[in-house]
Amino acid sequence: MHGPGDVRVEQRDDPEIAAPTDVVIRLAATCVCGSDLWPYRGIEPVRRPSPMGHEYAGIVEEAGSEVRSVKPGDFVIGSFMASDGTCEICQAGYQSRCAHVEPVGANGAQAEYLRVPLADGTLVATHGQPDPALIPSLLAASDVLGTGWFGAVAADVRPGKTVAVVGDGAVGLLAVLAARELGAERIIAMSRHEPRQKLALEFGATDIVTERGDDGVARIKEMTGGYGAHSVIEAVGTQESMMQAIRSTRPGGYVGYVGVAHDVQLPGDELFFAEVHLLGGPAPVRRFLPDLISRIEDRSIGPGKVFDLTLPLDQAADGYRAMDERRAIKTLLRP
Ligand SMILES: [Zn+2]
Repeated sequence: MHGPGDVRVEQRDDPEIAAPTDVVIRLAATCVCGSDLWPYRGIEPVRRPSPMGHEYAGIVEEAGSEVRSVKPGDFVIGSFMASDGTCEICQAGYQSRCAHVEPVGANGAQAEYLRVPLADGTLVATHGQPDPALIPSLLAASDVLGTGWFGAVAADVRPGKTVAVVGDGAVGLLAVLAARELGAERIIAMSRHEPRQKLALEFGATDIVTERGDDGVARIKEMTGGYGAHSVIEAVGTQESMMQAIRSTRPGGYVGYVGVAHDVQLPGDELFFAEVHLLGGPAPVRRFLPDLISRIEDRSIGPGKVFDLTLPLDQAADGYRAMDERRAIKTLLRP
């Protein structure tokens, strides 16, 4: 990305093993993230031309001398945050805030090859070579599925509970899927876009609410006997969506917030009296990967449906544009 709205596909040097704990993978698929739209729209500054992309699935091409858990030829998926897997934070399941964390996206996953640091703590191999039809779903596990799943876990989704999801991007839609898998009884998707409503229903939403802001909150209250939802997942990252999530949650309930926050300010006195649990942040996707990969391999979930546009890598700029204009939910890029 050279600047807002300016995505170019250029020849860069192939990545090489830089540390003995690195691997280089050949990407089977990569994609454009909703968070890539923040710099694309100029909301995050682009100070210099930057490699883009942090979602990846592919085959290990080369492994550093200290890598033990994967080997050349393995099909692997990893998180957008590389983690050592051994520090106290990783051991507690918060690998995205590992004491030695490295953002994989700095190396640019929208590419043919990618260097992944801390391979043993970051990557998970599939059970044998996957059916090519499963690759979009495996790629989704790298971020949007793992992030939606964390949102649902952070929001304490459980059997019998009522869950509301704020945000109908890929993460919000997959939070709906996660809530269904975790046994929620009622899942309210907040969306005003018909194709996204359809996918939300397919992923397990039981109700659609088109109102937003205060009206959206009022609808959720009305649908829950005046109480608010037990669990609310926030998957946007704006002031409005965060307040909508907190206000839609009943006292004692849980908010899982996974939309990357942009200038969100929480009013302390309202928060005090809201009496809700708050947990969020960059999702520790690595915690969930083994389970998510198994669910995809046995075809109990199909998160790859969020990719409604597939383009060759050299048309990446069109993929960004389609998402920016909301013509596509999520663009898969084939290297
Ligand atoms: Zn760690």
